[in-house]
Amino acid sequence: MLSLYLHIPYCKQKCRYCAFHSAFPCKIEEYTAAMEQAIAHFGKEAEPLATLYLGGGTPAMLGEQNLKRLIFAAKAHFGFRENMEMTVELNPESTTPSLLKALRESGVNRLSLGIQSLQDEELSAIGRIHTKAQATAALSMIFEEGFTNVSADLMYGLPAQTLESFGQTLHELLSFPLTHLSAYSLQIEEGTPLYEEGCRPMEEDLEEQLHDLLCQKAREAGLIHYEISNFGKEGFFSKHNMAYWRRTDYLGLGPSAHSFLKGVRYATPADTMAFIKDPLSLHQPRQISDAEALEEQILLGLRTIEGVPLSLLPKELNLARLQPFTALCGDRLILNEKGFRLSNYIIGEILSK
Ligand code: SF4
Repeated sequence: MLSLYLHIPYCKQKCRYCAFHSAFPCKIEEYTAAMEQAIAHFGKEAEPLATLYLGGGTPAMLGEQNLKRLIFAAKAHFGFRENMEMTVELNPESTTPSLLKALRESGVNRLSLGIQSLQDEELSAIGRIHTKAQATAALSMIFEEGFTNVSADLMYGLPAQTLESFGQTLHELLSFPLTHLSAYSLQIEEGTPLYEEGCRPMEEDLEEQLHDLLCQKAREAGLIHYEISNFGKEGFFSKHNMAYWRRTDYLGLGPSAHSFLKGVRYATPADTMAFIKDPLSLHQPRQISDAEALEEQILLGLRTIEGVPLSLLPKELNLARLQPFTALCGDRLILNEKGFRLSNYIIGEILSK
């Protein structure tokens, strides 16, 4: 099973919490040509793709024609497996009927829309350039265009967010027929404008209440909490992201993209100009040792409802102590909802044995 990720490192404006590699669009034609070259090179002897994901950044910044070129190149050089999943990330302000039509005609069958909040004050506090009206209009356009597998990204723990405002966002968002929801608590990373201004994480109690509300509303909407930060309807869990968590092979192309191929991890430097100059190298190869592979299996497996086989866990592990946060499913240990929320602590505890 092979998955392909194409990173599009362009955004109209940097969000105030963003620590990803993204910049104002420049050298778009050169970037597209470099990406096409990379696709042709790596696709030569590769197996057909199980998933293709165009993320960023804001892929729409590349323009419809260039996005079509990249999808066409992926199909021509890798080939697509039957029932393959093809996702494009979108942001509300750059979602248009014409873009959606172009994506649908290119075979895109899954969209992931960066909503983050449906409260204008919260959106502007974190430097998003779209409004609630643009977000709901984009969702309506997506469903009108006939897409049936649609995910939304949401954030909680935002400055000035309350239990009530988050409840309103969830209520309005989940009135759309979404098949998937990704929800992350705001991370305030050093070097971002939010951090520099002294913004700090919200009180743990409130964050816990927001998380509980999220889980409750997602459950009521028929979305299964299948990974720490992800909820999906039965049959609509992200196949692409599952490839990361199951440690099957994936190739990431573009600045800051990561790959995992036949037990070796690679990381491309976060430098767009360097990628344009040399799109054909996989950088910083690191062979994963057996001990690291086991650690990754535990760490990544416990992120999802697939969990990990008990046989992989350290013998000294006191399962009774973990009982409030875990459940046994046959011969596998999985985290429950409380365990998902405290996953850093629980997984750290397991790996420290
Ligand atoms: S849209 Fe995404 S990648 Fe672009 S600046 Fe905002 S958070 Fe960063």
